Amino acid sequence: MDSQEFREAAKAAIDEITEYYDNVASHRVVSDVKPGYLRPLLPASAPLDPEPWSAIHADVHYPAALAEMYSNTFNGAHFNWICSPAVTELETVVMDWLAQALALPECYLSGGSTHGGGVIHGSASEAILTVMCAARDKYLNAVTAGLPADSEEKEEATWKHRSKLVAMGSAGAHSSTKKAAQILGVRFVTVPIDEDASFAMTGAAVAKTVADLRARGLEPFYLTASLGTTDVAAVDDFAGIAEVLSPTAGTAQDIWVHVDAAYAGSALILEENQPLTTPLAHFHSFNFNPHKWLLTTFDCSAVWVRSRAWLISALSIKPHYLRNEFSDNELVTDYRDWQIPLGRRFRSLKLWFVLRSYGIRGLQAHIRRGVVLGESLEAKLKSRPDLFSIFTPARFGLVTLRVAGADEDEVNARTERVYEGINADGEFYLTSTMVNGKFAIRVCTGVERVAEEHVQRLFDILVERAGAEVGKKA
Ligand SMILES: *Cc1c(COP(=O)(O)O)cnc(C)c1O
Repeated sequence: MDSQEFREAAKAAIDEITEYYDNVASHRVVSDVKPGYLRPLLPASAPLDPEPWSAIHADVHYPAALAEMYSNTFNGAHFNWICSPAVTELETVVMDWLAQALALPECYLSGGSTHGGGVIHGSASEAILTVMCAARDKYLNAVTAGLPADSEEKEEATWKHRSKLVAMGSAGAHSSTKKAAQILGVRFVTVPIDEDASFAMTGAAVAKTVADLRARGLEPFYLTASLGTTDVAAVDDFAGIAEVLSPTAGTAQDIWVHVDAAYAGSALILEENQPLTTPLAHFHSFNFNPHKWLLTTFDCSAVWVRSRAWLISALSIKPHYLRNEFSDNELVTDYRDWQIPLGRRFRSLKLWFVLRSYGIRGLQAHIRRGVVLGESLEAKLKSRPDLFSIFTPARFGLVTLRVAGADEDEVNARTERVYEGINADGEFYLTSTMVNGKFAIRVCTGVERVAEEHVQRLFDILVERAGAEVGKKA
């Protein structure tokens, strides 16, 4: 492709992206293709000769955001400062901007008192695996600190402790915590939650789980607390958890607490939610995905640690080919030591574009719209107690509901039929959850193009389908 062809293709792409967004409502909301549909449509192997752009372009029906276009244009690997100073430094700057916008405690800022800072990963799962790895090494270093460095004794003790390590998360925590434990080869134990505490993990439940594990000779070293669980957007009791863990905070038994706010973290941009961040000063790390609700295209997961040394000591490698005067003298940040891969994408450009083009106020207005629409749906559902019950009230743009029925079995069965019926139509795509044996429909309103008219239309469909269920003769 020469520069003239590129110019034409890129301009045409912009027209298409604009068209796509303007007409997004006319597309099916979820794909109706069958598994395996694609392979028969494609050649069995890659072409040997180049294809013209017109042929490739015909297969692309998907928009890419402008920042991705630029990022692709620069196409660097960006693993250390020397190969991409602008990429490295822009990331430090925008992560500080973002931390301030969410009112994270100052310990998470790059210039903060505990030498913390933020880094952009691809996904929350990657963020959780990475911080769990840092937590493991921090714990092992602390419990073997009294033994002579590089001794066989220390090595043996380290491996012995490794076999007893336990990572914890609530029953509502996202499966990525369990998966991280699986990858790292440590045990995973669930902290129970219940409906009386709105499915939040309490300090008392954490204290009990930790005491039980220690009584069995096991060593809990890590806990995921959630700000907005996947099932019902519950927020764990951060203050209660901080309090029960405070006796061992700062000792060798210190349990690393990571706050996973992958979805709901975007709502911290609203001042009314910012008091939630105060207890994070007692914890070790925090992540959220701007690509979920903060108008940033996939992928972009923002993660902060209270002390960057924890990440660097677990993940740093210094082969000769990566050496340079800036890194050797620790004058710069090398983000390769804050993540699993070596190379990295220019993701900060997306955040930089988003933060500047919407401004904090524009982002607040977007988040508030999603929150208000969730509340609007909840109010409508409450106007029909003959048909619906609210399972968990609107929070962070998520409402969960159930269809009325005589007993739990009937409620579960009716709710599931309504849910399946709506999804089969293809106009809306709802998700469901099963919490402590209760089936509920999840409705998420935090999507940019969703407006009150869509919420009204969904409600009308829910009324029609639930009405048919409830009206049926037994
Ligand atoms: C979506 C989500 C995740 C997983 O996110 P990925 O970035 O896809 O790994 C983890 N935790 C919570 C609370 C989520 O909502």
